Amino acid sequence: MENFLIKTKFFSVSLCASDVCIPTLQKLTMITETLVVKQHKQGDWPSELRQAIHNPVHLLELLELSDSALAHTVTAKQRFGLRVPRGYVARMRKGDPNDPLLRQVLPQAEENQRLMGFSIDPVGDVAAEKVPGLLQKYQGRVLLVTTSACAIHCRYCFRRHYTASQLHPPAVLDAIRADSSITEVILSGGDPLSLTDSRLAELAHSIAKISHVQRLRLHTRLPIVLPERVNDELLAWLTGTRLQPVMVVHANHANEIDDNVNKALQRLVGAGITLLNQSVLLRGVNDNAPALIALSEALISSRVLPYYLHRLDRVQGAAHFEVSEETAAQLLEQLRVALPGYLVPKLVREVAGMPYKCELRMKNEF
Ligand code: SF4
Repeated sequence: MENFLIKTKFFSVSLCASDVCIPTLQKLTMITETLVVKQHKQGDWPSELRQAIHNPVHLLELLELSDSALAHTVTAKQRFGLRVPRGYVARMRKGDPNDPLLRQVLPQAEENQRLMGFSIDPVGDVAAEKVPGLLQKYQGRVLLVTTSACAIHCRYCFRRHYTASQLHPPAVLDAIRADSSITEVILSGGDPLSLTDSRLAELAHSIAKISHVQRLRLHTRLPIVLPERVNDELLAWLTGTRLQPVMVVHANHANEIDDNVNKALQRLVGAGITLLNQSVLLRGVNDNAPALIALSEALISSRVLPYYLHRLDRVQGAAHFEVSEETAAQLLEQLRVALPGYLVPKLVREVAGMPYKCELRMKNEF
């Protein structure tokens, strides 16, 4: 007779197969996950990351959602797995399958559709690679794909199919050194803040030795989805470099910005880091004026300026998130009426091969 050993941080128990059935095991696992949610130590970001949820069954159980929603998740999750930190789950509304945060992370059956106009490299990353791990699309700036890891898997991610070449720091640094027109280096990924502070500090130190580089920009979603990542070590290297630090975070909905996130963002601003936000216009998440207005208001309360509102990058598997150009233009008009200009993000689309982001303008504008 087969035995099951259920070992957790809190207890371990050995059960004979005749004692338990699969639903019982699932319930025990769920109880364990719930205990972990309630008892895990705050402030330790690697441990928070290790405890992220990967199983749609557990996610839906925690949110008190029925299995009918689960039926859609099983096939899609094979290609780009679920990954969501527990602190982010805690900001979702229980019992609401249309929660705007849940919609961003829960795999859906539509992801398996293959539609014309949607590709695996929608913004031309492959063609923009100069040396392994270094992309250049725009004058004066280069982007380093520092890692493919992220704390969260956003279902609409334009890099969900992209496998970056392994970053080779000596070659990357040589390429930056050789081009004196480069004044800004962007650390991206994946999420650069998935890397340890010692690795990031070393990279920043090497970049700072190149005299023509003035700014270090980070594109990261971690301060939003895992605010514990904003710790003393991060602030120390980010403010200890001669490079001017700019951070572009990524929030799509005001519900993502709770007290912990607000404190983390204020810490970054308080340390002298220029903080901007980029979001993506997503059907069923933020495609209405009240949601976008609330997002801008929440951002400025945390002293973050709304920078870009991206039209969806047409990546395979994300078509169900697309918002029409007509609706996008109407939303922009509503934001302009309701908000001061500095709280209206630029509505843009990235077009492969263009030397800048294309901004959507109204018909009556010059
Ligand atoms: S955090 Fe950014 S790079 Fe990572 S999955 Fe989300 S959108 Fe993609």
